[in-house]
Amino acid sequence: MTTDVLAPAAAEAAEGTGPLADAQAQLSAAVAALGYETGLHRLLARPRREMTVSIPLRRDDGSVEVLTGHRVQHNFSRGPAKGGLRYSPAVDLDEVRALAMWMTWKCALLDVPYGGAKGGITIDPRNYSRGELERVTRRYTSEILPIIGPERDIPAPDIGTDEQTMAWMMDTYSVSVGYTVPGVVTGKPVSVGGSLGRSSATSQGVVHIALAALAHRGIAPAGATAAVQGFGKVGAGAAQFLAEAGVEVVAVSDQYGAVHRTGGLDVTALQRHVAATGSVVGFGGADPFPAERLLGLDVHLLVPAAVEGVLHAGNAAEVTAEVVVEGANGPTTGAADEILAANGVLVVPDILANAGGVIVSYFEWVQSNQAYWWSAAEVDARLEARMLAAWEKVLAVAAERGLSLREAATVTAVQRVADAHLTRGLYP
Ligand code: GLU
Repeated sequence: MTTDVLAPAAAEAAEGTGPLADAQAQLSAAVAALGYETGLHRLLARPRREMTVSIPLRRDDGSVEVLTGHRVQHNFSRGPAKGGLRYSPAVDLDEVRALAMWMTWKCALLDVPYGGAKGGITIDPRNYSRGELERVTRRYTSEILPIIGPERDIPAPDIGTDEQTMAWMMDTYSVSVGYTVPGVVTGKPVSVGGSLGRSSATSQGVVHIALAALAHRGIAPAGATAAVQGFGKVGAGAAQFLAEAGVEVVAVSDQYGAVHRTGGLDVTALQRHVAATGSVVGFGGADPFPAERLLGLDVHLLVPAAVEGVLHAGNAAEVTAEVVVEGANGPTTGAADEILAANGVLVVPDILANAGGVIVSYFEWVQSNQAYWWSAAEVDARLEARMLAAWEKVLAVAAERGLSLREAATVTAVQRVADAHLTRGLYP
């Protein structure tokens, strides 16, 4: 692909591998399918705004450490920027850029009125106390304060952050401006203006799509088998909802190991074990299992729900599942996509499969801004309707244009963002 359309750092990444190279390659393919000119490609390829901040932290022992954080706002053509905040040792600017671009496409595909953003701090939260994490979160929020707000950019949880992180962000922002602003973040606790159904929304949405994709392949939930990689907020919830739908979840893994049980795991008991021990490892109701074999298990459905790049050229040929539903953002590299397509595996892309989180984030933002709250049943019904409408749309575009589901989803999203941009026009 030509790299002249990219910012210098992005061009460098596009030469190599990694999430940003994958995101840029997906955009390039969509731009080619849509026949857009280089100028428009350039505009869509580059983030609108990036902020990198130093975060000085006084540790509990009195020493001072300086962490690095980023907030990347990829696009505002359809509305304020929206996207999660990640705490992980793997966070770097290129990863945040890729995740921000995927948020733009995700919001456009699901037709929620936002652009895309992402934040990240390079930190392993397991090595910090609750008090230290609160200080990091508040200082980061204070540093990025000029560029966030309910009409500008609305953060939410991602890997390594949770409802409490959002409560601290909301409080820090509110104290700074002098009044309470619940709409500045989503994924907040319900007690401070969060939405019912938000915490389970991503995994619930993954399962709505997984069941639709299995049905598309003629597979009923009863008798279907699944493996789930990752047992965090997305993976554990997906395993639970799959089991409730009658799917046998035979294996799950986390960063410490994996467990397997022919006939299906008792996911509720496994969640209790994880709550008590911090890992799936050692769960009495299953056999230990080598985590690296999970992606190649003989199952109908594979749900990668951990991090980017786990399905790559080196292991994609081992996948025997009929359907891969991407709970994580960017779990499949471009090379893996080609291998999976050649082997007839149906891959449902992240920007569709895991969009349940940002859909209910949108519902939460609407409720927060109006100070009027919806019932759980109302949230669930609207989530399901939006997920299934997007699934039907992507299937139709794929059939019409002869594209993979990822290409169809990206083309649909890129076209909506480009239309908004072209209608607004270039200023000045
Ligand atoms: N972090 C989630 C994602 O990647 C949710 C983002 C949001 O709700 O803004 O989609």
